[in-house]
Amino acid sequence: MLVGVPTEIKNNEYRVGLTPASVHELVAQGHQVLVQQGAGSEIGLPDAQYVAAGASIVGSAQEVFAQAAMIVKVKEPQAAECAMLREDQILFTYLHLAPDPDQTAALVRSRAICIAYETVTGPGGGLPLLAPMSEVAGRMSIQAGAAHLEKSRGGMGLLLGGVPGVAAGHVVIIGAGVVGANALQMAVGTGARVTVLDKNLDRLRQLDLVYGNRIATLHSNAQALEEAVLSADLVIGGVLVPGAAAPKLVTRSMVSRMKQGAVIVDVAIDQGGCFETSHATTHADPTFVVDGVVHYCVANMPGAVARTSTFALNNATIGHVLALAGKGWRRALGDDPHLRHGLNVCQGKVTFEAVAQALGYDY
Ligand code: NAD
Repeated sequence: MLVGVPTEIKNNEYRVGLTPASVHELVAQGHQVLVQQGAGSEIGLPDAQYVAAGASIVGSAQEVFAQAAMIVKVKEPQAAECAMLREDQILFTYLHLAPDPDQTAALVRSRAICIAYETVTGPGGGLPLLAPMSEVAGRMSIQAGAAHLEKSRGGMGLLLGGVPGVAAGHVVIIGAGVVGANALQMAVGTGARVTVLDKNLDRLRQLDLVYGNRIATLHSNAQALEEAVLSADLVIGGVLVPGAAAPKLVTRSMVSRMKQGAVIVDVAIDQGGCFETSHATTHADPTFVVDGVVHYCVANMPGAVARTSTFALNNATIGHVLALAGKGWRRALGDDPHLRHGLNVCQGKVTFEAVAQALGYDY
């Protein structure tokens, strides 16, 4: 199959759909890969590495879209990209269609085979093509939080790990899923005192087995949450209720009683956020202050570490890319019900129930 990798065109997006190592895998299995000039150059993956891996470089996105049987990307296609999609062309990328009627309509019009990373499931449950980005965001949340606790960034001037003779900071992590567990690992590494809350006792049991009495686990209820948040120096919001907006677990009143110069990192902001005072921010202007509490609410945290995120994403996607290229979409989806769950739009029809319901399409 001829597989195409265009340069991402969404604002400030530097990730790329395939790494040179992924290209190498495809070429070794007899496929051809077209990469748009400069697709990975911003993250240390120059064209020469793609050529060495066996790709051909073309000058424009038009050439990639016109020739490839499958397009592998990162972000949802922008309007100009949707217009270049062809009937029966495979598109494999993040789509996030439910809140995006314009993109959905454009993909329906294209009659392409549109498979969304975020709805592909895994044999053990979960969303394995979303998990790498949650790992990245979870780990980054402590880095971002620690930086913003510094005085010059608006924080109270606190070093998370303390020093001998000075108490460590208190990190409270709400939600012990992929984001929470990765934040926890980093927070423990800094030497901070860490409390993690979740409604799911099995998640807390697993973390307790790993960390023992180095951390405190709390069942998430309104009282425990309030006590933890009011004593925190850094609060990480990593809750998810699948298919729903994030619950506003931390109210405006709680925020107003938090320590002055404390920091909130609301990772769940892409689902609306779990702090009543949150609104989405960008890497260019990541924080704002409410009642003396610094809020970091960047909706695409992994974009800041585009190189790491690209490799992490490729590790999760390459198996499916190889299956789609090797078998064609019908057999690849037929053989793998988990990949089939990724099919959102197919030959002019919305094929994912939640998207059809959200946007009023027949299903
Ligand atoms: P996950 O499903 O692995 O974990 C979510 C956890 O929240 C679960 O353990 C669940 O039991 C817990 N939870 C649900 N309700 C709760 C409550 N009331 N109190 C305490 N815990 C509760 O999800 P994840 O992969 O960790 O993702 C978490 C959020 O981070 C999602 O909204 C995801 O979209 C978001 N995210 C954001 C970015 C970003 O750049 N901002 C990047 C990646 C992920």
